[in-house]
Amino acid sequence: MARGTRFAQQLYHVLLDLVLPPRCVVCGRVETWLCRTCAQKLPLADRPVCPRCGDAWEGPGVCDRCRTMPLHLASISSAFVYEDAVRDAIHALKYRGGQGVARPLAERMAEAWQVHHLAADLLVPVPLHIDREAQRGYNQSQLLARELAIQIGLPLAELLLYRVRATASQTRLSPRERWSNVKDAFACATATDLTGLRVTLVDDVATTGATLDACAVALLARGARTVNAFTLAHAV
Ligand SMILES: [Zn+2]
Ligand SMILES: [Zn+2]
Repeated sequence: MARGTRFAQQLYHVLLDLVLPPRCVVCGRVETWLCRTCAQKLPLADRPVCPRCGDAWEGPGVCDRCRTMPLHLASISSAFVYEDAVRDAIHALKYRGGQGVARPLAERMAEAWQVHHLAADLLVPVPLHIDREAQRGYNQSQLLARELAIQIGLPLAELLLYRVRATASQTRLSPRERWSNVKDAFACATATDLTGLRVTLVDDVATTGATLDACAVALLARGARTVNAFTLAHAV
């Protein structure tokens, strides 16, 4: 999307939000983009998926893509499927300043964490490029990771991983372009030593897994024993 178009769209939302206060994307109640009652009712993903990449897959074993092109990540797990109210809530979180939805959504991530029997020594949010974060005012993955870390009682390393360079938004790219767009885009802070640690990356949406896998490469290079990814939602 052209920068001008994106700006116009953001301006439109800002103006709209001045006139109309936030409303729960499910029940329409005013003052929040997702009320806690509705967040509690969102159905956790329970479709059959590839145990490696988390894509919809009936099995047996891993999906065709993972057989031919294995990820550096040990696995990608997600609390929800990216559809309906979940998609609307994430849209509010990312594009409409709805930071308040991070907590009720992270509470459900904590529930999914238990359901999936996940384990880790350290949580690491997927970083935004500094320009994008400045534009948005926050990093939605960091907000989710902070709340999740509190809920499940794990340490969070917010400044460990960073973007080496700005990358084009993944949303309009083909799957192949997404992989080359983020290759070598991430690095760890100097003196980072992750030897023997099980690290879990936290992000809002997993689509092709390209961004998450590029992060995993940077973490594995610093000695991480395994890198898994846990996202709020997984593409349909
Ligand atoms: Zn509601
Ligand atoms: Zn797979």
